Amino acid sequence: MTVSQVRDEVFAQLGLSAEEAGAFDGATWSAGGARVAVHSPIDGSVLAHVRHANADDYERAAAATARAFLKWRETPAPVRGEFVRTLGHRFRAAKPALARLVTLEAGKIVAEGAGEVQEIVDICDFATGLSRQLYGLTFPSERPGHRIVEQWHPLGPVGCITAFNFPVAVWAWNFSLAAVCGDSLLWKPSEKTPLTAIACIKLAAAACREAGFDPAIATLVVGDRAIGEKLAADPRMALISATGSIAMGRKVAAAVAQRLGRSLLELGGNNAAIVTAHADLEVAAKAIFFGAVGTAGQRCTTTRRLIVHRDVKDAFVARLVRNYENVPIGNPLADGVLVGPLIDAAAGERMRAALEKTRAAGGKVLTGGQAVSVAGCEKGCYVRPAIVEMPAQAEIVREETFAPILYVLTCASLDEAMALHNGVTQGLSSAIFTNNFSESERFLGPAGSDCGLANVNTGTSGAEIGGAFGGEKDTGGGRESGSDAWKAYMRRATSTLNGSGAVPLAQGIRFE
Ligand code: NAD
Repeated sequence: MTVSQVRDEVFAQLGLSAEEAGAFDGATWSAGGARVAVHSPIDGSVLAHVRHANADDYERAAAATARAFLKWRETPAPVRGEFVRTLGHRFRAAKPALARLVTLEAGKIVAEGAGEVQEIVDICDFATGLSRQLYGLTFPSERPGHRIVEQWHPLGPVGCITAFNFPVAVWAWNFSLAAVCGDSLLWKPSEKTPLTAIACIKLAAAACREAGFDPAIATLVVGDRAIGEKLAADPRMALISATGSIAMGRKVAAAVAQRLGRSLLELGGNNAAIVTAHADLEVAAKAIFFGAVGTAGQRCTTTRRLIVHRDVKDAFVARLVRNYENVPIGNPLADGVLVGPLIDAAAGERMRAALEKTRAAGGKVLTGGQAVSVAGCEKGCYVRPAIVEMPAQAEIVREETFAPILYVLTCASLDEAMALHNGVTQGLSSAIFTNNFSESERFLGPAGSDCGLANVNTGTSGAEIGGAFGGEKDTGGGRESGSDAWKAYMRRATSTLNGSGAVPLAQGIRFE
């Protein structure tokens, strides 16, 4: 099927049209900003035109989101959870269409698009259960007849800024948790993927209407960085949850800190996999192949550095090179293709420039890096994933190039591997491949991996929603999705309750 045939089908299924307005305030879809063509990275064709939000549209959406919060926060949490359950059902039903829309707009292969929509379904299930588990604590007081309790309350409207490479899942991670926590959420998606965002908000609005809730708990402003800047600076937004590059995160963090707001940052990674002399090389090769090549190297958790013990290096790298040379590259809508296009020509140019730097730094390209011409998709930017053997100290190895380049670094010991591993500014995901218990325990210990995600015998990418997701250092320190990530979306009140009939003071103070 051609891109335009798939587009016509999924547009009909998801209620999209060739002309869309990129602002939703809970009641109307209308936008007065620039009319921008949305191109598919598959073949460069125009999928639709979207009108961006201007300052007035932003104001309408932000005001509606703030208003909706006032009512939503008083809806009991399990009732909010029941709403999120119905939202999950809508995404289950829409999964085949939405997955193909993700493929059309972001260029992921259909299996990965479907996996991304599945994350929405999973996080809705998780959040539904969570709505009955927003536990506070109770403490014994030092004063007779007193007790102390902590309660969690809705925080306020949330502003959510997302990146192009997870065009639907990251919003859902944020919205489903925010919703059960009693917060409304205004979404500023990547300007590269507005159609998936519009489709998600249409589904959320329908779920709200059916359940009798104000659709302004899930609002939208499509636009470029200027709209993101407005959101970050808006004092009505109690939390700004921002996913994207480190450069973006620094600006957003500063703007939110300026007004003493709360931020949750999910920024770039430079993820490494260590393969020790005790690794099962078959397991390591499969996991690293998916981690480095999946989504054409455009995941925040993509494996970008391979740190391999010198005793197994040649055999292991030869195995990886074989996998790379056989990987099917092409139209991500086609069966059997594993590597689709980069998001745009600029991404291809950044990959080319990075490879040039690797050569200048003494790197040796072992495979890949060439542009690939795909029949019928000549305007897409397709590349052969690259493996480059690098001297460890090269500066380019320390940068995140958002493309499929895997740097190979050789080590002689676990000490050396750990120093290389932690010797970058980013701290998102990491993995060790070993069947030696002492090595894996060291990697997971306090002096081990300094990343937010640290895996053993499985790759750096492909996290499940049950665990807290996020990273340290320049990755921003935020946590989303599972575990106790919900606490970022709530405020905590500590209360001392006195049933004693007297007024004893803490610390034994007498004030009489
Ligand atoms: P990007 O930083 O270019 O854009 C991300 C979003 O931020 C977009 O919506 C953009 O419009 C907005 N933005 C840009 N500048 C802004 C500003 N000054 N103020 C407010 N908003 C602004 O990132 P991208 O190219 O879309 O995505 C790729 C990057 O995202 C990579 O670095 C990747 O590692 C990172 N990422 C991180 C995670 C994570 O969970 N840690 C997940 C996905 C992507």
